[in-house]
Amino acid sequence: MPSASWRARLKRLLPDVLLDEPMSRHTTFRIGGPADAFVTAKRAGDLSELYGFARAEDLPVTPVGWGSNLLVLDGGVRGIVLALGGPYARLRFSEGGLVWAGAAVRLPRMIVACAEKGLGGAEPLVGVPGTVGGALVMNAGTRELEIGDVTESVDVFDPESLETRRLGGAEVRFAYRSSSLAGSLVLGGTLSLKAGEPGDIMERVRRFQRQRLQTQPVHTFNVGSTFKNPSGRFVAKLIEEAGLKGRVHGGARISPMHANFIENFSAAAAADVLALVELARSEVRRREGLELELEMKIIGEAAPRPA
Ligand SMILES: Cc1cc2nc3c(=O)[nH]c(=O)nc-3n(C[C@H](O)[C@H](O)[C@H](O)COP(=O)(O)OP(=O)(O)OC[C@H]3O[C@@H](n4cnc5c(N)ncnc54)[C@H](O)[C@@H]3O)c2cc1C
Repeated sequence: MPSASWRARLKRLLPDVLLDEPMSRHTTFRIGGPADAFVTAKRAGDLSELYGFARAEDLPVTPVGWGSNLLVLDGGVRGIVLALGGPYARLRFSEGGLVWAGAAVRLPRMIVACAEKGLGGAEPLVGVPGTVGGALVMNAGTRELEIGDVTESVDVFDPESLETRRLGGAEVRFAYRSSSLAGSLVLGGTLSLKAGEPGDIMERVRRFQRQRLQTQPVHTFNVGSTFKNPSGRFVAKLIEEAGLKGRVHGGARISPMHANFIENFSAAAAADVLALVELARSEVRRREGLELELEMKIIGEAAPRPA
């Protein structure tokens, strides 16, 4: 049982904190047990207060974005879950095709806003539904472009010094769906885009949106790709060849449209998703001798919190 007293003290410090907040409200899977405390930082000062508090109380802080890559386990998340809002949900344009995007800005919104200003070069990311913060940490991308390819600098908050630091693009290591930013709190990033005709850029944006609609189950509750593609192979094809497309466990199923997506089609538990993850892993291992690596992130505890 989390000590009632730390939560009462946090409520006094940040009155907007949500206690026992179901994480199913904050993930595109619509799955996840309760967070002990869920805070949306809306003022720059909130972060120092929150991290100072967490350090004094010895509590973990878990940052989240749009929850579009997250499986939160059924027992929920202990400590504080932190989302960003306010100043971190803004865009600032400057000379030379640079745009600073707060970590809470969602990629589709950013890319359309850039297109309207005549700035292009990141259109392939328009179908990634997450935030700029989540995208930088994950190095989100497609076959055409990863966000790291257009990143000039990243602003991070250091929980030790309680200060913000700007990392130059070269100081951050971006790799396939991962970056050296994992473990830090990302506040925003500056992207370097190219000037172009707004109409042409919007036309490319629409083309990428159409492609998504044709190939991915975007209108279901899911978190995009479950696994990373093993070098030179397409994991969707491997799962499909194992005969698992459409396979159901509880309220979850391997998408009949794209075998690397798992859908919550009927009040699925995280345990249902994990059962399908294990099934796909064991079948691909047995057939191909390949070990599949998760792309989605898992947080929280499997077992419910003791009453
Ligand atoms: C329909 C659909 C299609 C998708 N297509 C793609 C695709 O084409 N390419 C792709 O790469 N991904 C895709 N995704 C997955 C997902 O959108 C991306 O991984 C995205 O970058 C996650 O961002 P988020 O804000 O939702 O992060 P979350 O899911 O909330 O978090 C992801 C990870 O980032 C961390 N994190 C989030 N914000 C911060 C922050 N500010 N500071 C520090 N850590 C943070 C979290 O702790 C977690 O570890 C898709 C998802 C869906 C639902």
